Amino acid sequence: DQSASAVDPEVAAVLEAELARQRGTLEMIASENFVPRAVLEAQGSVLTNKYAEGYPGRRYYGGCEEVDKVETLAIERAKSLFDAEYANVQPHSGAQANAAVYHALLSHGDTVMGLQLAHGGHLTHGMKINFSGKNYDIAAYGLNPETHRIDMDMVREQALAVRPKMIIAGWSAYPRQLDFEAFRQIADEVGAFLWTDMAHFAGLVAAGLHPNPVGHSDVVTTTIHKTLGGPRSGMILSRDSSAYAKKLNSAVFPGQQGGPLMHVVAAKAVALRIAATEAFKDRQARTVEGAKILAERLNAPDVAAAGVGLVTGGTDVHLVLVDLRNSDMDGQQAEDLLDDVGITVNRNAVPWDPRPAAVTSGLRIGTPALATRGFGAAQFEEVADILAAALVAGRGADVEALRGRVKRLTDEFPLYEGLEQVRK
Ligand code: PLP
Repeated sequence: DQSASAVDPEVAAVLEAELARQRGTLEMIASENFVPRAVLEAQGSVLTNKYAEGYPGRRYYGGCEEVDKVETLAIERAKSLFDAEYANVQPHSGAQANAAVYHALLSHGDTVMGLQLAHGGHLTHGMKINFSGKNYDIAAYGLNPETHRIDMDMVREQALAVRPKMIIAGWSAYPRQLDFEAFRQIADEVGAFLWTDMAHFAGLVAAGLHPNPVGHSDVVTTTIHKTLGGPRSGMILSRDSSAYAKKLNSAVFPGQQGGPLMHVVAAKAVALRIAATEAFKDRQARTVEGAKILAERLNAPDVAAAGVGLVTGGTDVHLVLVDLRNSDMDGQQAEDLLDDVGITVNRNAVPWDPRPAAVTSGLRIGTPALATRGFGAAQFEEVADILAAALVAGRGADVEALRGRVKRLTDEFPLYEGLEQVRK
């Protein structure tokens, strides 16, 4: 018996317990999703055995005829989905796609403008101890202190002052859409590259529910596993195949990586095919609608009276940022309380957060995984009400009652029905 349960019962137990955890809770981490079974199958396949350094038709290993086909499928699907002329589907992760962009377009010490981490930017957009912050001269831009939105006049003013070589549009925790045309104009005015990191909202772009940055940016990166709903990994796109293709390809391999993970590339191909379907569009529409339903409920007077608010007062995307600065709970306490209720979220700094990053005064709450699970308006209304009840009552919340309401939802919408993670 070579099954995981026979070979390694300890790991097998984790696989089973994690499946049970995912089934039994409401997953509301904005960067997570549930991959379709076809993606699990591709990612769990024998393609994991294959070395394929290089690119389709130009490999440094023999036996690549099958994996060449799958990488070509992934590339063609990515290009068609996002209206790009160039795609590189080899980055192992979002961070590695981003590292390749720096590597391809910049020299050590060049000036870069990205959104501050504390205002919703990503680590790879210039955080001090990330490779980006260590190797480049980072002049991060912040949010408008009054609106808590990205203010394109402020971005322009800063760009004129620091003359960056590259401007980054994109975020990890921000509830609004970006103005790519304005970013393009500013980049042109100061002679900077414009790189958009659409990791969070790529699924919305694919569904036509968010402006597509590809036409406005020199380079676009994304993860595949957030709203896009595929395997954990990254990719790079560009509207123009001639300008940066060679530099980007060689920045990924051999610049940043060795052999691509061909099982993951195959899983990406599957996810990108699914992302072109009507069912996917419907899912993304329910994702955005769900976030709006959360915003509406969390803006109600009973929630406001408990000192709980929303950053920017609402959302245009798949998440809301809850502001707990005036609540009795900090981000850590609220995350723990929701965890007890059966709702998984992450604490998150709010702009100008008075608390340290390990505690925070906020929560980031997203709807992509629940939309994938099948939730529509009625279920999101119930989820929003459970969240509101917990955040209003705080540590006095009736955890048992709320857990019961969560269980009714998870029972009604079974996840991976019939899937056995481990063969017995
Ligand atoms: N870019 C953005 C905007 C992100 O939010 C993230 C993930 O949190 C990444 C890149 C990095 O992706 P990964 O975790 O795959 O390295």
